[in-house]
Amino acid sequence: MNEKNGLTRRNFLKKGAMVTAIGAACATGMVETASAKTGTYATLIDLTKCDGCKNEPIPKCVEACRRENEKKFPNPVEPIKDLWPQKTHDDWSKKRDVMNTLTPYNWTTVQKVDMEGEEIFIPRRCMHCDNPPCANLCPFGALNKYSDGSVAINHDLCMGGAKCKAVCPWHIPQRQSGVGIYLKLQPIPAGGGVMYKCDLCHERIKKGQVPACVEACEKRLGAKKPLFFGRRDAILKMAHERAKEINGFIYGEKENGGTATLYLSRIPFERIDSKLKEAKSNLTMEKVLNPLRDVNRWAKGFVITPLISALGAIGLALYRRNKEGKEKDK
Ligand code: SF4
Ligand code: SF4
Ligand code: SF4
Repeated sequence: MNEKNGLTRRNFLKKGAMVTAIGAACATGMVETASAKTGTYATLIDLTKCDGCKNEPIPKCVEACRRENEKKFPNPVEPIKDLWPQKTHDDWSKKRDVMNTLTPYNWTTVQKVDMEGEEIFIPRRCMHCDNPPCANLCPFGALNKYSDGSVAINHDLCMGGAKCKAVCPWHIPQRQSGVGIYLKLQPIPAGGGVMYKCDLCHERIKKGQVPACVEACEKRLGAKKPLFFGRRDAILKMAHERAKEINGFIYGEKENGGTATLYLSRIPFERIDSKLKEAKSNLTMEKVLNPLRDVNRWAKGFVITPLISALGAIGLALYRRNKEGKEKDK
């Protein structure tokens, strides 16, 4: 286990969150096994149990995520400039209350599909891929895959070029213009803001806590909750046992090479995906088996932007050197 993340077995023991059986875990919100070796965590989202918080003004998971992350939400400098060379920019700052899609101010959302009279609610957020193209292909190294399983964006390094969104099979990261390091590099025409997305509550995990959405859902539903968080091997075991019980399906175990956000459903995900596409949702549930499937699209993106990336990288290096110099002088 990587000490850098403060995510050690000892931490969980200290916090009293360590349990040795899935049954006990259901009562604590944390799934753990005595034999866990990977040190990587995952979430299971059981679609047979999520009711979309229909009777609540806001789904509890969404509300908790917003509360947990509001200090990280962007406050853009006005007027927001266009993204060179385009005549557009991304601004969600006047639509902070939007909750029916992912935005820089809303890192999780709950979709609804009607499957022949049955309503299915699907909480969506970053899948935290095991081999994330967003982190592997970010030209500025602003994304990291941590040993706890999370994929998180360093907002201080992100230039908002949106490469991560382009290569993400689910297009999860969302951009806010008018914030971030790119403003300091102007007139170098690089970047366009900062990207935002779910970070699996990386900071909470470091402290031995479960993600805020998981905690809030459990507070409302107790043992009937659809969200489970714990070591990936225990979570996978739980998903397979439950899938066998209900003759169901798992999404995320193999998609994009494996992810740390897993879904369980009684209905095949191909059918759920078709419904999402029918509804023209921008968050689908495709089978993404080959992480290099879209290699041509990625390659195209890199052909279009190498100059911008190179200029940005030079600017970023100069900015960092300048900042380090100033800090040394203090
Ligand atoms: S995951 Fe839990 S909190 Fe979120 S919508 Fe479903 S039941 Fe509500
Ligand atoms: S779902 Fe998208 S943003 Fe999240 S880790 Fe995977 S590639 Fe990155
Ligand atoms: S894990 Fe944390 S950041 Fe991600 S959706 Fe849940 S509360 Fe939000």
